[in-house]
Parts: sequence; C-alpha cells; structure tokens
Amino acid sequence: MSTDTTSPGASTADQPRIVMEDVSKKFGKNTVLDGLNFNVARGERVTLIGPSGSGKTTILRLLMTLEDLTGGYIYIDGDPLSYAKRGNRRVKLPNNEVTRIRKRVGMVFQQFNLFPNMTVCQNIVEAPVHVLGQSKEEARAKAVDLLDQVGLRDKIDAHPSSLSGGQQQRVAIARALAMEPEILLLDEVTSALDPELVGDVLEVLREVATKTDITMLLVTHEMQFAQDVSHRVLMFDEGRVIEEAKPEVMFNNPTHERTKQFLQAVL
Ligand code: ADP
Repeated sequence: MSTDTTSPGASTADQPRIVMEDVSKKFGKNTVLDGLNFNVARGERVTLIGPSGSGKTTILRLLMTLEDLTGGYIYIDGDPLSYAKRGNRRVKLPNNEVTRIRKRVGMVFQQFNLFPNMTVCQNIVEAPVHVLGQSKEEARAKAVDLLDQVGLRDKIDAHPSSLSGGQQQRVAIARALAMEPEILLLDEVTSALDPELVGDVLEVLREVATKTDITMLLVTHEMQFAQDVSHRVLMFDEGRVIEEAKPEVMFNNPTHERTKQFLQAVL
C-alpha cells in the first residue's frame, strides 16, 4: 500500500476498489471524458452502457493505463494509479509505481489479442512468469486449472489460429485471470463473435462472476447478461454518467429520456 498521505483515506475493507475523481480525457481537441466521478466497491460488478463514442472503452483503457489521463485522478484501493496529489500539485507517478498498481487490473478485449505465435499455454503463462516471477511449472499448473475452468484443457498446446473465436476469447479470459487481478475489465468481449459462440463465453464469465469476488467493470451490448451479473449499471452520454441504477431498474424503468431512447434502440 502507498504511504502517500494525500490518497483518499487509509486502506480499509470498505474503501472503494476504484475511485474515479474528476477524470477528464481529451484526444486532441476532442473532450471524451469531462470531470467524471464514480466509485466501484470491492467485489462489485458494474456495467457501463451508452451510445457508441460516449467514452466507455476509454474509461477501461485509462484503468489499464493504456491511455494517459488528461486531468483528475484514479485510485485503486486508495493508491493513485498514474497521477497523485502532492499538496495542490498533480504529479505523474514513476513507471515502476504505475506498474505495481496496474498489476491489480486485468482486461479482456473485443479482439482477444492473443499472441498468434505462441501456444495457448504460452499465452497464459507469459505474464505470470515474466511479470509476477512465477516458476514455469507453477504457471503451467495454474494454466491447466484455468483452462479447466473455461472448458479448454484439451487445447493447452494448440495455437490460437486453430481455435474458434469463442475459444480464443475463453483463452483470453484465462490469460487475464492468470495474473490474479483484483479488477477485471471486459470490453465488449462478445462483439466480435459469431452469435452461436457468444453463449459459451458468457457462461464462463457468469461463473467467474458468481464464483469469485473479483471486481468487474463491463462494457457490453448483451443486456440480459448485464442484467444477470451486474450489481449496478451506469448510463453514459457524452463522457458523463447521466443515470445510474440497479440493472432491473435501469432496464425496466429508466428515468432519463436519453436512457429510454438508448435502451429502446438496443433492447
Ligand atoms: P465508446 O466505448 O463509448 O464507444 P470510446 O471510449 O471508444 O467510446 O470513444 C470515445 C471517443 O473518443 C470517440 O469520439 C472516439 O473517436 C475517441 N477516441 C477513442 N480513442 C481514441 C484515440 N486513440 N485517438 C483519438 N480519438 C479517440
């Protein structure tokens, strides 16, 4: 844990897992996120919905430090992720500090992003061995367990190109979990799949959601899945949260006109 006394509060069990504080992100002159604030509790599963271009993926990429924050702060378990307050100054944290905190976050992408020249096993053990310092034997044993969980143990020595999209995505989920993240980010993980392959991937994620206490932030167009697994849904429009509610309320009885329009178009 950081000893930075300016981070919000000491680390406690009821401290939010994620704090987004006055977060802004610009790409050139395009302001994508503008003074965004929200928290995610430990073990909470939150779905981000909203029209294309409203900034949902950008939020996940900021949490993965794949994008640089233009303004504001992100805290993971009270530790600043990439920028910290020092008095009234905002300072960029050194890379080793950012890497230390970022290791708590894993992400599964729409396009799987498996290494094509490596086997399934090599894909999964790469980061645990090189980033976490696990032995190859330990990492392989964990890979076997994870492949069991996602129903692909028999594919351990296969190459990604010999797998279906749904199987590749399940390997990508196993790869993310191999890093034992506290937070799992899922960015439209079924959008690139043929419809008949979506079910298996969602089933694996349902299992992860219900059998672990991992904190999840999801961007998905699968509204039934979002309703089943999430505790809370945030509706985005133009880089801001315009409505938040429990899924049954958001999907059945939204209050904001923009949310009603959006849900009518996608449901
Ligand atoms: P969503 O996930 O809600 O569809 P995104 O976060 O992908 O929205 O994108 C929000 C806005 O940011 C869009 O206008 C998009 O064009 C812009 N954007 C995203 N990534 C980049 C980038 N790397 N460079 C420039 N603009 C980007």
